[in-house]
Amino acid sequence: MDQKIPFQILNSQILALFPDGEVEFVDIKLLDDIISYNDHLLSEINYKPYILTDIIFTNDRLFTPAPLIAFIEITNLCNLKCKHCYANSQYRRKNEMSTSMIFQLLDEFGEMGVLQVFLTGGEIFTHKDAVEIINYAATKNFTTQVFTNGILLTEQIVASLPGNIGLAISFDTADPVKTVRGKMDYPKLKQTFELLNKFKIPFRTAISVHKYNIQDIIETYEWSIKNNYPRPQWLETFATGRALKNKHILPTEENFKEIFEVYKTCMDKFCTMDNADELQGTAIESIHAIKTIQMVERLEIATGKPKLANTMVYVNSSGDVYPDSSCLDYEDFIGGSLYDLSFFDIWTNAFKELRKNSFTDFKGCDKCPINVSGIHCNFRDYGLSQNLHGDPFYCGASDYIKLMILRCAEYWKEKDDKGYKLKLLIN
Ligand code: SF4
Repeated sequence: MDQKIPFQILNSQILALFPDGEVEFVDIKLLDDIISYNDHLLSEINYKPYILTDIIFTNDRLFTPAPLIAFIEITNLCNLKCKHCYANSQYRRKNEMSTSMIFQLLDEFGEMGVLQVFLTGGEIFTHKDAVEIINYAATKNFTTQVFTNGILLTEQIVASLPGNIGLAISFDTADPVKTVRGKMDYPKLKQTFELLNKFKIPFRTAISVHKYNIQDIIETYEWSIKNNYPRPQWLETFATGRALKNKHILPTEENFKEIFEVYKTCMDKFCTMDNADELQGTAIESIHAIKTIQMVERLEIATGKPKLANTMVYVNSSGDVYPDSSCLDYEDFIGGSLYDLSFFDIWTNAFKELRKNSFTDFKGCDKCPINVSGIHCNFRDYGLSQNLHGDPFYCGASDYIKLMILRCAEYWKEKDDKGYKLKLLIN
């Protein structure tokens, strides 16, 4: 599969994801070269002299011409019924999009210049055309990441996947008694990871942290190191989707001390003082994902506006376009339906009211120690805030999450000062 450069033009500047994984604004003079590269008329592109540090925004156009990150939930059907599921997945939604409608959406994303597409579910591999959809997405300019619980992956499926995607496998514990997901154990995980290695499919892993797996997490990190598997990403469980109905699994301030000790132990195992770049040993697909997320944050800081509906979007399996998965329970947040309008129309013309909002509209932030200490906060999130406070403009973080943000920032500052970097993959 050849690699192309997804790009979009914003106020006479180009925002692009380059083959080395960097996401940058560059001078419009580079446009012909980018087009030639994508048409295979250039084999390399030297974009660095064209990088712009001053990003121009106009007051009427603070959102990007296409999302930088777009999620497509291809089905809500899932083989599991996890208590912490952010999307409340289990059954198909009414009127789920057909495969041809998903292809059309992928075409639009490609044409508009979306940088990164996350294909998700439900469990994506319950969809009869999952492999076909993933292969189609992989032909487009954007980078494709696939979220899965990994349980349905067989040799036949893995052998049919394209090599230029990234797979993200999430689990909570490999202890069959303590899991709130079920059906996963170390032999099954090992078998799946070995298959992915055999067919050279880049993958990363993620552990969903909740009240009942705290004491298993260190063991899972150690198991990952011992077997030379990727460092699991630490995923907090938020008050959304099915987790909202199972609040007993959500960590509280009382659990903070214990969880933070586990966090430090796990991260310490993956810190290195090598002079190498912090992304050492990381597949290019993961670098693309990380750099795109970093650009989303850069734009949030530059504009003072939340990423939701400005640079990020979530399309559910019924074709409804939301600012984010955290808003799925609230129809008021739907920007439009793909059964009525093209994605381009929805992105360009919907969300007008939401886009007027800025960080200063979130009432909880004023005196919040996170905001006061200048830490960039990802919790100006309408759905999470509504779930926690009954108000979309308050704060999307629980008291436990706030403590984690503050202490993790201190921990990483200390590590950074000593010259430690976090390795994302062991290789
Ligand atoms: S944690 Fe909440 S109150 Fe604090 S900065 Fe983030 S969104 Fe604002």
